[in-house]
Amino acid sequence: MKVNNAEIVISAVSSKQYPNDRLPEIALAGRSNVGKSSFINKLINRKNLARTSSTPGKTQTLNFYKLNNAFYFVDVPGYGYAKVSKKEREKWGGMMEEYFQSRDTLKITVLITDVRHEPTQDDIQMYEFLKHFELPVLVVATKMDKIPKSKRTQYLKRTKETLEVDPEDYVLPFSSETAEGKDEAWRLLRTYL
Ligand code: GDP
Repeated sequence: MKVNNAEIVISAVSSKQYPNDRLPEIALAGRSNVGKSSFINKLINRKNLARTSSTPGKTQTLNFYKLNNAFYFVDVPGYGYAKVSKKEREKWGGMMEEYFQSRDTLKITVLITDVRHEPTQDDIQMYEFLKHFELPVLVVATKMDKIPKSKRTQYLKRTKETLEVDPEDYVLPFSSETAEGKDEAWRLLRTYL
């Protein structure tokens, strides 16, 4: 997919602010610092549309990026940052429910994990949450460039097993460094648009 046009439309804190042009949406979720912004930027060939290495725990918004005037990437605030207060966590949870429960233009969610680490309890919960709403999920195992070739199969298997990924869901090896998996990601995602 060639993205010729990418613009941030809104950083939303509530459903009243979501775009209402009914274009299809792809949501992107993952732990803070997992490499979500890098994934977005790599897919749309921008250095810095999605902000990388943003301070975890800062204002939590759903960022809607309109691409080619045809669909949206919805950047979901990162989770799992230890220093976030209980109140912030609850707010995050409320936002997640509000969006995922009823957003009928949402076509698929990309759940980004760091292949070097065993998925955390937060990752497992996020995956289960999406499955609970019967939403399609693409699991992306990023930072593949950081593990030796000989360990790839083993690490990918661990990601799959810890998350208890459904047989129909993909776990896609990816790297924002080398662009491994980029074409495959678009190939899979465009079937939902
Ligand atoms: P976010 O908080 O999930 O949006 O994470 P970022 O995209 O800001 O990435 C966090 C850090 O991981 C940054 O220092 C990135 O340069 C680095 N990073 C992200 N993806 C990759 C990758 O595929 N390979 C390598 N080696 N580093 C990555």
